[in-house]
Amino acid sequence: MVPSPAQLELDRRRRARVLSHVEALSAARGRVLSWAEIDAGLEIDGRRVRIANRPRGIFRPQGAGFVGALSVKTSVPRRGRRAWYDDEIKSADGLFAYRYRGTNPQDSDNILVRTCFTLRLPLLYLLGVAPAQYMPFICKVVDDFPAQLTFMLAPVVAADVADSSVLKSAAIRPPMLDRRYAVRWATQRLHQSRFRERVLTAYGGGCTVCHLRHRGLLDAAHIIPDREEGGDPVVPNGLSLCKLHHAAYDQQMIGITPDYEVRVSPALLLERDGPVLEHGLKNMHRARLRLPKDPGDLPDRNRLDRRWQAVAWRSA
Ligand SMILES: [Zn+2]
Repeated sequence: MVPSPAQLELDRRRRARVLSHVEALSAARGRVLSWAEIDAGLEIDGRRVRIANRPRGIFRPQGAGFVGALSVKTSVPRRGRRAWYDDEIKSADGLFAYRYRGTNPQDSDNILVRTCFTLRLPLLYLLGVAPAQYMPFICKVVDDFPAQLTFMLAPVVAADVADSSVLKSAAIRPPMLDRRYAVRWATQRLHQSRFRERVLTAYGGGCTVCHLRHRGLLDAAHIIPDREEGGDPVVPNGLSLCKLHHAAYDQQMIGITPDYEVRVSPALLLERDGPVLEHGLKNMHRARLRLPKDPGDLPDRNRLDRRWQAVAWRSA
């Protein structure tokens, strides 16, 4: 069904409101939004308009005057099978590949995305980077491949704004000049977030040195840095460390032996200061790491040894 000019105009106006709201929110939140922030939606013309729906990938708010999909999303589940695969980002082309819902190209949800393609309506791609955490991208649908059951989405860039009345009235100033850069950035962010989630989960959400269990104060530290050989973002190359022990490990104030024992530098052991130095650092000397239960998640002894061999005071 072809929408009337009035229907299309209403869609464009409300779509611009939604995109401008999400863009402002995402800029204020460092480009990652929680599900709660997305789920709050926004008020338009005196009614609450939702942006996405938890169980659905493709979403158009009910009875709010939208003719095409408003958002598509991929989620990272808390446990179990991944919902999202690396091959869905075509970083070389600067495109996201978004799978159809099911296998029927004429499914009503797939038609909603196709409507955005034919009417050139931008939509939101909510890319799951961690459980209940999403990176929003304002995208245009640039291709539709029914044989592959896939839409191709491109993050909008500055040059797209002049061609789109929705983007113009939303006053969107795309943060990225180049869509290849935008997609590469998304891929990196996604890998970092996944690495963090996997490592923290493997360690039961606690620091392996001091057992602090406050997720907001924990990092997934690399044993071998990611720019070096062997520095892969895999759990055996990770350690769940609190901010203090992560920084102390990186600055060689503490070391970790391949036998899963903490060593504090001789210089630090001689220092005198307040309780954080005493309890937080010096007391950790010769502490045993608290390790993941799953043997496949244990920190790799070869990598720990490589890192330990590089510690200047090791033989002291
Ligand atoms: Zn700690």
